[in-house]
Amino acid sequence: MSAVKFNEDIIRKIAELYQDMEEKYDEVACRLDFSCNGCPDNCCDSYFLHHTYTEWAYLWEGLKELAPEKLEEIKKRAIEIISASERMLSQGERPTLMCPLNDNGLCALYKHRLMICRLHGVPSAMTRPDGKKITFPGCFRCQKIVGDNETAHLDRTRMYQRLVELEMEWLGPKRTILPKLKLTIAQMIVKGAPHLTYCR
Ligand code: SF4
Ligand code: SF4
Repeated sequence: MSAVKFNEDIIRKIAELYQDMEEKYDEVACRLDFSCNGCPDNCCDSYFLHHTYTEWAYLWEGLKELAPEKLEEIKKRAIEIISASERMLSQGERPTLMCPLNDNGLCALYKHRLMICRLHGVPSAMTRPDGKKITFPGCFRCQKIVGDNETAHLDRTRMYQRLVELEMEWLGPKRTILPKLKLTIAQMIVKGAPHLTYCR
């Protein structure tokens, strides 16, 4: 099976992008005087779908560094989550199931957590390529704290663009033949790192 090579350059660039996201998020959170400290909830049970091979592969860069027994434990949790999630979806429910990477409230792969894990909390917006603006209200707690006094929000536009640019740089022409992705973190874990054979 031939793996889609994930090279050092792309790894460095996605790490830089994630770092920039973190800094921009922190700036906005600071201006809103908002943090996750003391949150009674944990948004790691949100049902999020992820769309890039780059994030999937980078997640696997982190998973490969885990001890084998830890990785097995996470895979087992991911399999259970996928079954439960399918049951809930078939009943018309949006799944609220804890992410398999969450260990007692903390992310076991913090450095490799995905874009939405980094941006979810604060209010944000993005302008799509067709010019349409999409807004995200932030998490329930931030909405409660900020209320109508939204003095700052995060602009996700350039971050999304950079992620797409990385996806294009890494996959090249393969990008047009590979299936469009819509995967949960649990599915990314159970499927293993992305492979070229995935495009069959
Ligand atoms: S990857 Fe980490 S931060 Fe993201 S949902 Fe899972 S446990 Fe939470
Ligand atoms: S992002 Fe919001 S809901 Fe999630 S842990 Fe932080 S404060 Fe809580």
